[in-house]
Amino acid sequence: MSPPTGPRPTGPGTPDPRSPDATRRHVLVVGNGMAGARFAEELRRRDADVAITVVGEEPHEAYNRVLLSTVVAGTIGARETRLKPNGWWAAHDVTVRTGVRITALDVSARTATLTATSDAEQDLVAWDQLVLATGSDAFVPPIAGAAGDASVIPFRTLVDAERLVAAAGSAHHAVVVGGGLLGLEAARGLLGRGLHVTVVHPAGHPMDRQLDPDGGAVLTRVVQGLGARLALGRQVRERRPASDDAPGAVVLDDGTVLPADLVVVAAGVRPRVDLARAAGLDVGRGVVVDDRLHASHPHVHAIGECAEHRGEVPGLVQPGWDQARVLADVLSGADPDATYTGTSVVTRLKAPDVDLTSMGRVDVGVHDVGHEVLAFTDPVRGRYAKLVLRADRLVGAILLGVGDAAGPLTQLYDTGAAAPRDRLALMLGRAVTRASGAESVSLAEMPGAAVICRCNTVTKGAIVEAFRAGADTVPAVAEATRATTGCGSCAGAVDGLCAWLRSAEPSSPAAEPEPDTHPDSRPDTLPNTLPEPLEEGAA
Ligand SMILES: Cc1cc2nc3c(=O)[nH]c(=O)nc-3n(C[C@H](O)[C@H](O)[C@H](O)COP(=O)(O)OP(=O)(O)OC[C@H]3O[C@@H](n4cnc5c(N)ncnc54)[C@H](O)[C@@H]3O)c2cc1C
Repeated sequence: MSPPTGPRPTGPGTPDPRSPDATRRHVLVVGNGMAGARFAEELRRRDADVAITVVGEEPHEAYNRVLLSTVVAGTIGARETRLKPNGWWAAHDVTVRTGVRITALDVSARTATLTATSDAEQDLVAWDQLVLATGSDAFVPPIAGAAGDASVIPFRTLVDAERLVAAAGSAHHAVVVGGGLLGLEAARGLLGRGLHVTVVHPAGHPMDRQLDPDGGAVLTRVVQGLGARLALGRQVRERRPASDDAPGAVVLDDGTVLPADLVVVAAGVRPRVDLARAAGLDVGRGVVVDDRLHASHPHVHAIGECAEHRGEVPGLVQPGWDQARVLADVLSGADPDATYTGTSVVTRLKAPDVDLTSMGRVDVGVHDVGHEVLAFTDPVRGRYAKLVLRADRLVGAILLGVGDAAGPLTQLYDTGAAAPRDRLALMLGRAVTRASGAESVSLAEMPGAAVICRCNTVTKGAIVEAFRAGADTVPAVAEATRATTGCGSCAGAVDGLCAWLRSAEPSSPAAEPEPDTHPDSRPDTLPNTLPEPLEEGAA
């Protein structure tokens, strides 16, 4: 590693070949994660002239972080998480610098200091507009003895996932710290690799942010049925590493000692705001932005998990992608008045044998006067459904183990359409799949932007585009778009969509792939009917 050098000015007006030329407006994106990469793609689609540089400290090109649980489960490899094929960014005139961290910003001078993570060499880069997409760090709660222990692994990056997979190869007992979405997905992956797994969670039931106590109780039974132990209402206080005399262990706050060769930390995230704070920008829990995603300096913007919009900091990918689209509209001038007003998020657990979707308001009691609440509990079979309606619209739901109902009900929630009057049929997801009348929500009627595969955030438009480019079977669509490669529960919907496209567009597939056409950008010219009702819902 060479010693740090002073910042070398590059950027518009300087001859450094890695920087954009002086005549082009330069947008610098801090963070090559899911929001930053999506923003660069959206901006290039709207503006062929602007110079775009994306700087990311991770050693890889942008990848789909959502798929890391699937990597830990062994269903896919690291390579398959890449968001774009080799050469895509260069072919689209986007400069990507990996393994480089932005270590300082001067928002008055509009420069950024870039520091290589390998040798600390520095550049000073000028920008016209700056987009912060720095995401989050894994939160590691205070655990005595954990610092510096290589078998205590947070779960956030591809490197973390690869370390987990390597460590799981020789481990017998794993403790997962945190029983939220990530913790349960990690636990399921490690169970699949043959480890004994205990999930330690401070609340009374897992996924307490997405489930009410009744749903949480059913999920507890389901997770236990898969072979995991759950230590609820408990926290890990101490790490005891393995020695010649004793295997590794953790100690809980009630003194319980659990064997642990491997400790996975999935205890939440903290938005990365240090850079913004040091630059003097307004920071709350995240970098504070308005509806146009402007931060407190007129040339600085923030999107994704580092951004705080109307008091909310997202923890899922969809808000960051919606923000990326709006900011690209604003900065390119394609729609200078575009605003972001929020995203209704749907959380889905990506674990084989656990089919769980949660959306919107679920903390409403059955007898709440302002809402209509439908509930079904079948703990022995691991099934629980709760639907929350307000003014005949579905405003929240927990769907555990009710497979086919999850897809159509998610679409009903997404579209905000009126719920069918037959509440029992609604509960089963049947009334909303009937392709007739105003009460139907079918794949044919869905907009191109509707998400079919939630694990990979693959839209109907992206699948239609892949089909037209030659992917006319589920495996081919999976190869082209990654749809179905997460939890796999959208396979039926993708199959149904392919079948519908085959009958609606018998001459397709014909066209060559159009790599620079965004999935959502093509007009959906397909007929507005679906030959057969779908049997399986979207992811
Ligand atoms: C295992 C796992 C499973 C998940 N599953 C789901 C799911 O099923 N559904 C869902 O919606 N969401 C899921 N998420 C959350 C989702 O991945 C995040 O919401 C999403 O990645 C946020 O995107 P982002 O671009 O804001 O942040 P990130 O994707 O974290 O990207 C931020 C990037 O910025 C880089 N960076 C930060 N600071 C700097 C700097 N100063 N200089 C250079 N680079 C910097 C970071 O290294 C990182 O690469 C999951 C997350 C994990 C870890």
